[in-house]
Amino acid sequence: QDSRKYTGIVEDCCCDYETVDSINGAVLHPLLQELVATPFFRYFKVKLWCDCPFWPDDGMCKLRDCSVCECSENEFPELFRKPQLGLPADDLKCQEGKPEAAVDRTLDSKVFRGWIEVDNPWTNDDETDNGEMTYVNLLLNPERYTGYSGPSARRIWDAIYSENCPKYASGEICQEKKVLYKLISGLHSSISIHIAADYLLDETKNLWGPYPELMYDRVLQYPDRVRNLYFTFLFVLRAVTKAKDYLEQAEYNTGNPEEDLKAQSLMRQLLYDSKLQAACPVPFDEAKLWKGQSGPELKQQIQKQFRNISAIMDCVGCEKCRLWGKLQVLGLGTALKILFSVDGQYSHDKHLQLQRNEVIALVNLLNRLLESVRLVQEVSPTFEKTMEGL
Ligand code: FAD
Repeated sequence: QDSRKYTGIVEDCCCDYETVDSINGAVLHPLLQELVATPFFRYFKVKLWCDCPFWPDDGMCKLRDCSVCECSENEFPELFRKPQLGLPADDLKCQEGKPEAAVDRTLDSKVFRGWIEVDNPWTNDDETDNGEMTYVNLLLNPERYTGYSGPSARRIWDAIYSENCPKYASGEICQEKKVLYKLISGLHSSISIHIAADYLLDETKNLWGPYPELMYDRVLQYPDRVRNLYFTFLFVLRAVTKAKDYLEQAEYNTGNPEEDLKAQSLMRQLLYDSKLQAACPVPFDEAKLWKGQSGPELKQQIQKQFRNISAIMDCVGCEKCRLWGKLQVLGLGTALKILFSVDGQYSHDKHLQLQRNEVIALVNLLNRLLESVRLVQEVSPTFEKTMEGL
């Protein structure tokens, strides 16, 4: 007997829950795990120290796990480095927890050849290189529990939901507004799942591990949060497959030929996987949106709302949460850019232009969402039985 709780087509998408679970396990998970570990995909450029444009910074969280550790000096291939300007060696080392550690200016963006710098109309950040940008090794800074909570965190989520994507009323016919809400809610579910999957269980022993009760409390007991997670996953997967030509031809160059070839080859495997194409050829149908007379105006309005959400990320009062918040919102903004260009100029893949950072954000976001879907799949059936038995 099938004990699945979620069956049938994922609402507003083109694939069913069973298919998502099977392609994830058989195809996507192993590929993406390897891909995000390659040098190209593990170094994300981000402005971490930024002023909140909406309210005064209400203090960073106190846990050590909140801070971002950059990279150790030897992490980068020689090619990545700018000529040394007489900086003391100490400046280049990771000093976790110290503000100055958040700035690593030793990388020279010029090594990332072939990548353009064009503004993303869906996001707030100026992604062009400047002295405030720092490169963060994502593998050293996993998304997990940080202790960030209380009024500061609540204010961010409240601002996102109430000001920018109010929960659609039941019977809401505006498909586009529903999409924005579901993307944010799906991302929120994913963040909560990662917090619960890698939680500080015992601070004195520094013991980390899964906390399924928290996963249940925050996500699993709300079927719409789980559905929104699947929706967001399919939406981002659709963006990746739609940008296929661009992603296939892009240069994944970091100065490490072996690793760069591996990144290229894994990317091709992901884009051309026959099982994925057969099982879920069009994960989301973006062509049905922005129809009708009010389409262009609605698009501008929703684009502005999403840009606001992107700006709010500067108010996240915990460094590591801000890192992953910015990355994942940029990933969503990239998916939106791929699927819905401002005026249709990207409707053919050959016109699409992506920044290096957008591609990194998009692929890492897909991996995060996929891991969350897998965790739901693993934890949900057994755990819900236990909860029901209590
Ligand atoms: P919250 O998760 O803060 O939720 C607030 C309210 O939103 C809930 O009461 C509920 O009404 C609603 N809600 C919750 N989930 C959903 C959903 N999926 N869909 C719709 N509505 C929902 N903490 C960490 O420990 N590690 C991190 O990496 C991290 N990253 C973060 C990134 C961002 C951008 C933000 C804003 C916060 C981050 N946090 C992180 C904090 C974390 O998300 C929670 O805010 C915190 O753990 C407190 O949780 P809570 O139970 O009060 O509910």
